[in-house]
Parts: sequence; structure tokens; C-alpha cells
Amino acid sequence: MDDKLMLMIPGPTPVPEQVLLAMAKHPIGHRSADFGKIMAEVTANLKWLHQTQNDVLILTASGTGVMEAGIINFLSPGDRVLVGSNGKFGERWAEVTDAYGLNTERITAEWGKPLDPEQFRLALEADVDKQIKAVVITHSETSTGVINDLETINRHVKAHGKALIIVDTVTSLGATNVPVDAWGLDVVASGSQKGYMIPPGLGFVAVGAKAWEAYKTAKLPRYYLDLGKYRKDAAKNTTPFTPPINLFFALQAALRMMQAEGLEAIFARHHRLLAATRAAVQAMAMPLLAADECASPAITAVMPSGVDAEQIRSVMKKRFDIVLAGGQDHLKGKIFRIGHLGFVSDRDVLTAIAALEATLQELGHEGFTSGAGVAAAAKVFASH
Ligand SMILES: *Cc1c(COP(=O)(O)O)cnc(C)c1O
Repeated sequence: MDDKLMLMIPGPTPVPEQVLLAMAKHPIGHRSADFGKIMAEVTANLKWLHQTQNDVLILTASGTGVMEAGIINFLSPGDRVLVGSNGKFGERWAEVTDAYGLNTERITAEWGKPLDPEQFRLALEADVDKQIKAVVITHSETSTGVINDLETINRHVKAHGKALIIVDTVTSLGATNVPVDAWGLDVVASGSQKGYMIPPGLGFVAVGAKAWEAYKTAKLPRYYLDLGKYRKDAAKNTTPFTPPINLFFALQAALRMMQAEGLEAIFARHHRLLAATRAAVQAMAMPLLAADECASPAITAVMPSGVDAEQIRSVMKKRFDIVLAGGQDHLKGKIFRIGHLGFVSDRDVLTAIAALEATLQELGHEGFTSGAGVAAAAKVFASH
């Protein structure tokens, strides 16, 4: 049915009506006083969201573009970097550091398992002559629904003293606590189509003082992604290149909504959606890919047995207009992923779970009592 599409994927995520309406205007000039006012407001609110006094810069790029900027502005060819790789995105950042000729050392974990902070501690402690220039981590690994223990890994980076911590928070920022200043995170990247509740197109990167020091001597080539340019122009409440003005209207509206809800309430909502989704999936006798201790508040990966994951997605879409994400790379066909990030409410999860039950019945999946998934989710909502 037209206009009934419901996105339960980890990006692009649903966009609230007031954000959509904010975009339905003529663009204004990005050197105008009116744009300057918007830029000032959204920059202040981005600092609030990141819990930081550091610069938070806005780029016209997807998440990958800002993460690439976050890597290349602070490093030089041949620099030794540790990159955590336990999924599609962690591996992507290792591909970026490889592409730029950095001396990349991958610290890996099986897809579906979290990175082991001990491996970072050992590598960092062994580096007595301080050759490791950066540690690159994906906080919430969207491909598997695993959240890595950034706080502990970062503690080991701080004990090393020299290395920067560069973090992909694309599906953790705005879903769970990422206190940039309290943890001393040097470079933090995120994108508009995830926790921000706005369409794709904007990327955000928070940069701290230690990273700006490294920027001065970093020798990788940079031009469009030169963060110094964005910082200089942000001081004048503008951007170095023409930004997608209408997405700034959207960002302004979305950040106001987030402020009205409050950080604690936003995090609590995501953790509640996660708990309800996991309880429901288990009640439907389908295994979860990630363990409880490392489950991402943005996304739940499910490994159905006896039913094809792609068939589930296909029925969900055709019959119920609900879009779920599939598995990536070697997990394709083996898992499906339920996004619960951004503008998602308890009702959305109840709807998706009810549709999933109907889908499983249609596909002849047995081994659970009809209604058990909805009941399990409802029980979580009743007690949170
Ligand atoms: C979505 C996502 C990105 C960015 O992907 P783009 O398609 O470039 O926006 C990066 N990291 C993670 C963990 C993501 O989920």
C-alpha cells in the first residue's frame, strides 16, 4: 500500500513529519545571516548531543566520508594503526587505512562477537617506543548488532598516552551513552541517516585538542575532507563548500526534538526497544547472533533456523510493508536484522514483532506458541 512503508533497518531510519516539513522550503544561501543562525544553533546542539566542548564539524558526506576524514586528517603515510575489525564496518576502516598506505594492524574478532579489549591492552603495552599513532574502533558494529567495549579499549589507549582514539559512533551516538569529553575521545564520527532521524547526506565529526595537534604534522593528502577548513568556517557559522541547506533545516528540527526528549530518555528508549526485541525473538524460538552483554541498542541480528532469512524479509516487505535488513557478506541469507534506531517507538516494535509472527506462521516455522513474541515484548514494555 502507498505510504505505508515502515523502515526497521539501521539506516536510513524513519524521519519524523516535523523534520520532513522543515525541509519543504526553498534553500537559502550558506553565506547568509539566516544560515549563520541555523549553523550556530545546530553546532551548539551537536555539542550537547556529543557531551563535548570540542569542535563538532558538519560535512556533506555519508558516514564513510566523515570516518575517512577522521582518519586522514591526523595521520601520515606509514603510521602504525590498530584497527578493530569484527564486522563489515570495522573491516571498512581497515580498508581505508590500507588504502592510504598506513601500517595497519587488524585486531579481529569473529563476526557476532565483541572485540577483546585485552588484545588492545597487550598491543599498546608492548609498544614502548610509541609507534602506534591511532586506534580505530567501530563502537556499534551494525553488520552484527554487536557493541564493542569502547570505554575499556579507550582506557588502554589513554594508558599508552600517544595514540589517538578514532571512533565510528554511527549507530551508537543518539542511542546509548557516548560521553566524548568524559572519556576523552579524540575523533568521533557519525552520520545523519542513523540516530539523527534525518535523511542521508550529512556527516558529523567531533575533534578534540590532541587530534588538532596531530593535524598540524599529519601528511596524508586532503582537500574536500580537510577538517581544518571546516573548523575555520564553522567559527564564522558557515561551511567551506555548499552544504545541503535543506538537510540543515532538518537537522535543526531533529536536534530540537532530541533536546525536548532529553539524552537520558533517548538512551532509555533505545535500551527498552532492544530488550523488547530480544525478548520477543527468543520467545519465537529464533537464536540471536549477539550475546546479551554485547547487544547493540540500535539493531538486533537474528539467525533463524529452519526458515530462510531472505524469505522472512521478503514476506515482511510484501505482506506488511516492513523493511528489515539482511546479512552482509558471509552472513547474507543467514541472518536478518531488525533496526530500532532513531525515530522508533514501542508501538513500532510491537507492530514489527506481530508482523514477524504472522510471517513465521505463513512460512511454517514451528516451535513457538502463536502470540508469544508480542507477549514477551509487551511484558518488557510493561516493566520499563
Ligand atoms: C551506516 C554506517 C556507517 C556509514 O555508512 P554510510 O553508508 O557511509 O553512511 C558507518 N559505520 C557504521 C557502524 C554504520 O552503521
